[in-house]
Amino acid sequence: MLFDDEALDGSLPVTVSVLVPVAVDEAYSYRVPAGMRVCPGSIVRVPLGPREVIGVVRDIEEGATVARGRLKDILHVYDDVPPLKADLMLFLDWVANWTLSPPGMVARMVLRSEEALEPEAPLPGVRKVEGAEIERITKARARVLEFVEDGFAWTKSGLAGAAGVSPSVVDGLISHGVLEVVSMPASPPPPAPEPDREGPSLTPAQEAAVDSLRAAIGKGFSVFLIDGVTGSGKTEVYFEAVAEAIRQGRQVLLLLPEISLTSQFLDRFETRFGARPAEWHSDVPPKKRARVWRGAASGDVKVVVGARSALFLPFMDLGLIVVDEEHDTAYKQEDRVSYNARDMAVVRGKISGFTVALASATPSVESQVNALQGRYTRLELPERASGAALPDIIPIDMRTEGPERGRWLAPKLVEALAETVSDGAQALLFLNRRGYAPLTLCRTCGHRFQCPNCSTWLVEHRFRGRLQCHHCGYSEPVPNACPSCGNADTLVACGPGVERIAEEIADILPDAHTLVLSSDLPGGPDRLKREMKVIAEGGADIVIGTQLVAKGHNFPLMRLVGVVDADLGLAHGDPRAGERTFQIISQVTGRAGRIAGQGRGFLQTYAPEHPVIEALLANDRDAFYKSEIEARRASGLPPFGRLAALIFSGADRNQTADFARAVVRAAPHDQSVTLLGPAEAALSLVRGRHRFRALVMAPRAFDLQAYLRQWLKVAPKPRASLRLQVDVDPQSF
Ligand code: ADP
Ligand code: ZN
Repeated sequence: MLFDDEALDGSLPVTVSVLVPVAVDEAYSYRVPAGMRVCPGSIVRVPLGPREVIGVVRDIEEGATVARGRLKDILHVYDDVPPLKADLMLFLDWVANWTLSPPGMVARMVLRSEEALEPEAPLPGVRKVEGAEIERITKARARVLEFVEDGFAWTKSGLAGAAGVSPSVVDGLISHGVLEVVSMPASPPPPAPEPDREGPSLTPAQEAAVDSLRAAIGKGFSVFLIDGVTGSGKTEVYFEAVAEAIRQGRQVLLLLPEISLTSQFLDRFETRFGARPAEWHSDVPPKKRARVWRGAASGDVKVVVGARSALFLPFMDLGLIVVDEEHDTAYKQEDRVSYNARDMAVVRGKISGFTVALASATPSVESQVNALQGRYTRLELPERASGAALPDIIPIDMRTEGPERGRWLAPKLVEALAETVSDGAQALLFLNRRGYAPLTLCRTCGHRFQCPNCSTWLVEHRFRGRLQCHHCGYSEPVPNACPSCGNADTLVACGPGVERIAEEIADILPDAHTLVLSSDLPGGPDRLKREMKVIAEGGADIVIGTQLVAKGHNFPLMRLVGVVDADLGLAHGDPRAGERTFQIISQVTGRAGRIAGQGRGFLQTYAPEHPVIEALLANDRDAFYKSEIEARRASGLPPFGRLAALIFSGADRNQTADFARAVVRAAPHDQSVTLLGPAEAALSLVRGRHRFRALVMAPRAFDLQAYLRQWLKVAPKPRASLRLQVDVDPQSF
């Protein structure tokens, strides 16, 4: 909606509300200077206190009667990019309401790429003048002319380089009028994925799933749960859905947990579609991000593969979102705007009216219940596409079959490892603990090494020679003597991390080529991507890894998986611990025997009779979900009840505790609501900030957001270093 000219000529005060990136509940009003055209969704630059910020016009304030002199003017409209569309604006509002976040902070998530707002400067290029001939043709000139024959423009250096001549040859052709200088778009549209290239021939189960998806795409809102065991070909199924959306001229967003965004995945996409998708995640450099942003907005980019923040890209015509590994906790953002990208993808689909497909071998309990109750359509893939059987899961009872003192791998597992390696197959040892040892203590005085900023023990990283905090990054060298009692040679490492397991393997299987994979290795994401490739190509016999290796990778030679400590995740007091443990162990053992050969998974456990371990051993997913769903129903936990966490933090412990208590005391009384806490958070000190937490529980039909909003209105406000963060649908409860 544009203003009519009468309004714009300055005779009427035209004001608009603008969402600015500050933590306030309201949009701020600004005046539109004469001659400027804006509409809801326009991206603008406005003054805010002493700063200038980028914001989004929310509404035209018709009939606003604010005195002209008191309002500031909009400084600039970014009109090289389209205004945010009405459905995206509705989505932002919805997210702000649901998460109880300031709308301006949510709008900011769309404006993640400032570079995208300015047009890219065109590049100078050269092109053949149509019909031009040259009399004196040299060999070098002829080579250049070969390349420009088709009439396309080249950069001067690009052309000289391709033809293998010096740039002066190109200059010569320009001065003879054979080539002309033109301006070239800095980034031509990326090659479009081709939906009609041939994929593999599908299994009957895949075929049925694809048929349902194809029939739904383009016909409004629908949600599918692609529920198939590891290796069942879920990726091939959603690739066909992607193809269908492209055929219909729509855009597609494919969400992956960040760590699964490997070159292996991108290669696979390219094999199917003949072009790479656009990538959107934290490692993409700013210029490239800007192109993806603009391409999404213009419609030039057809498919974006991204981490959770890609959900806030301003697509021109989004027709499908796929959320792979939908159960993954990486979809939850916990700082600032606290949202779950999987749930918000469904909301975006509902608002804009398109299909959302969630995929997992171990769906979240929430999605399972949504499928059971008919809100999502379940598409089942019960068998592996290759025909391979699921791995046999074998328990190792550490109470009776455990290793000798000072070792961490049971003889049965060691034997299986040796056998696998001598067969030329690969093995994976999974332990979700980085470093060498999770705790270091002094044998003489009992001193333990704790982080000065966090309530955590320091973890020894032996190949770096340092003790490190995994929460704030603090580190110190491993000392020679105990800092408390001064005794030398009395420090002992307690428990294993992946480095320690690697040491044990080097000792017992010295000829095996081992590789440690963990997120904190030097070399960063690039090294990880390289190593994933090395493993996939068979360049390692034994891989020792943290949860990184559990996710989404295809390692064709992997035949054995050993879970070093299957009970580790169950030790948490959190009611979601069972679900998480089941998911991660299923995923990690699912790496075994995907393509050829019967896979085996060994679980080292002190509690083989624990229901989660029993379900894993029996490969009995249904039993696990059934009992988990019943337990949640019985205790009114999500998805049968609604939950929010209030997290209080501050530099001073007492002050933070007082603030937390005062806020909880101010809670409006409501019979439907159960309040728990405040209590010290599981991690009670992080980066020097003390943390307390209160939980709010209510029945499913209760309007929890309205209740929280009313509460926060009357509650004391955080002062000084104090902070209060609301986390609706928290990960842990
Ligand atoms: P998931 O996503 O369910 O883990 P993938 O789609 O990665 O499964 O498939 C597992 C393996 O099986 C891959 O190597 C894939 O190429 C192969 N695959 C999938 N579908 C088929 C099919 N219809 N025919 C042959 N191979 C297939
Ligand atoms: Zn710390």
